Amino acid sequence: MEHNQEEKTIQIAGSITVDELAGALGLSVTELIGTLFKNGIVATINQRLDFETAQIIIDELGFKNVKLEKKNTATKTSDIHHELSDKAVSRPPVVAVMGHVDHGKTTLLDTLLNKKTVEKEAGGITQHISAYQLERDGRTITFLDTPGHEAFAAIRQHGAQLTDIVVIVVAADDGVKPQTIEAINFAKSANAKIIVAINKIDREGADIDRTKADLSNHGLQPEEWGGDITMVPISAKLNQNLDQLVDMILLTSDIEELKADIDIPAEGLVIESHMETGKGSVVNLLVTGGELKTGDFIVAGKTYGKIRTMLDWRGKPKGKATPSTPVTVTGFKELPDFGDRFVEVNDEKTARKMALLNAQAAADESASANVTSTDLLRMMNTADNSKVFNVIVKGDVLGSVTSVVDSLKMIDTHGEITLNIVSTGVGDINENDVYMAAGEHTVIYGFNVNVPINISKMAARDNVPIRTYKVIYELLDDAKHEMENLLDAEVIEEDKGEMKVLGVFRTEKTQIIAGGEVLKGDVKPNYLVKIMRNKEEIGEAEVSSTQKEKMDVKELVAGETGGLALKTEHKTDLQIGDRLKFFTREIKKRTL
Ligand code: GDP
Repeated sequence: MEHNQEEKTIQIAGSITVDELAGALGLSVTELIGTLFKNGIVATINQRLDFETAQIIIDELGFKNVKLEKKNTATKTSDIHHELSDKAVSRPPVVAVMGHVDHGKTTLLDTLLNKKTVEKEAGGITQHISAYQLERDGRTITFLDTPGHEAFAAIRQHGAQLTDIVVIVVAADDGVKPQTIEAINFAKSANAKIIVAINKIDREGADIDRTKADLSNHGLQPEEWGGDITMVPISAKLNQNLDQLVDMILLTSDIEELKADIDIPAEGLVIESHMETGKGSVVNLLVTGGELKTGDFIVAGKTYGKIRTMLDWRGKPKGKATPSTPVTVTGFKELPDFGDRFVEVNDEKTARKMALLNAQAAADESASANVTSTDLLRMMNTADNSKVFNVIVKGDVLGSVTSVVDSLKMIDTHGEITLNIVSTGVGDINENDVYMAAGEHTVIYGFNVNVPINISKMAARDNVPIRTYKVIYELLDDAKHEMENLLDAEVIEEDKGEMKVLGVFRTEKTQIIAGGEVLKGDVKPNYLVKIMRNKEEIGEAEVSSTQKEKMDVKELVAGETGGLALKTEHKTDLQIGDRLKFFTREIKKRTL
């Protein structure tokens, strides 16, 4: 196909919908969808194509004079960067407490912050507090209390640095456990400083040295053994040594020289958001730069707003929030996403425009994960992928990912199914995993990892199966079943009997009534029939009833003469002298 027209330039911000591209090229949407289809892409009118895919399609269509150009986008939130200036001032550390379940994270925060009293003071406030601040000798520490590690994973995915210090709580009577390792990995990947709180030292069975040895086997060397990790033995329950832990946090923070600029437009992160009747969106923010005030216009992801009310973590009104301060605000038009970065802008118009650009950028990002040129090439190269089982493997640590993948590869599929490992990784299941899985026969397996709520919603919407396991053989069993479902079923046919046709009474489109003599075996309703003429099969049918002297009977056996009603799919002109061969057919699922 050759389209020679006047020169034309199409600008694409990052992606373009099928509809828009067809319009720009002066083609009908059907024509464009047809071309995409020929290239292995099943697209709908609203599907977004990335730059490279659009280019390939334009070449394919023979538009020699059309040029694609990347459009310059105006400012989005992610375009705003502030390098620390020399006017930066010191700020409180942001600390996350992590560790294995039941090792004492909640107790530690409760005791440190006297949370129960605080919650009572605030009049049993309904809002969920997701951050707390501890005041000590005129200094402040911000503690983040987030619902599980998913929270951090989501924020990390946005590339943001949320925590300065991670306090890893390990019970001295239990040692290093899977979530302890997860916490260590998180802290390392987030580039945060680690302080270990060896908890429950009051317990019988507590062994501080063994716990330290356990930790050093996982890459955390205690200072007293020549390493660089501060480990403080504590009892969160009995309030032992917590002062020392706080001192260590402050000391670490001093060494890190944590700073922020305050004379820049305010910015930070969304750490929680929910709707409340009467108030609309209630959003918890952590300020990381500048000073946030009531009345400020802010943008976060696809939404924006003017701050109507601002409360501190105790639920008391706050006029101004400086870096490392958590606040609860109202005024966002819609709920921003957890982990979104927020920035302050001058006016409503700028806010609206920036939110729009952010939305566009997010759509582009999902488009590039949606149909990319790599997908295109891959689809062009695979002829029949009906027997390919695609998996994405996520695990808590690299070791578990490797052993899951190795074990999957060991499942013997007798060469009938190809196992395609689409991707692997350490950490919770994320958006990207779901995007990558949005094809046929693809399962995301998680081993000892979490699935954030927003991700499971997204997966449900896109029909992407996510399965998480804590036991490896259960995961393997599931994968085996999935592959068995892809196997061609086994067809078992059993001969039952034979009849010679002696009379044909009616042949309609879907029904034949005939009579004959059973030469061998028997004939029963529901048997299948091969209609044979001179040893050649001319059709297939199913027995719907058997009759003897015009009465329905359960069966006809060898030697008997009787009538038959047969169900057929196509009109078959049965003739006297044809043979009917009866049989049963069982379709059996195969196993590996
Ligand atoms: P989380 O799941 O890590 O938040 O653990 P929790 O704070 O809920 O604590 C789990 C259990 O351990 C609770 O029954 C606590 O009372 C108990 N616990 C926590 N810290 C200590 C401690 O220092 N000593 C003792 N003996 N028990 C503790």
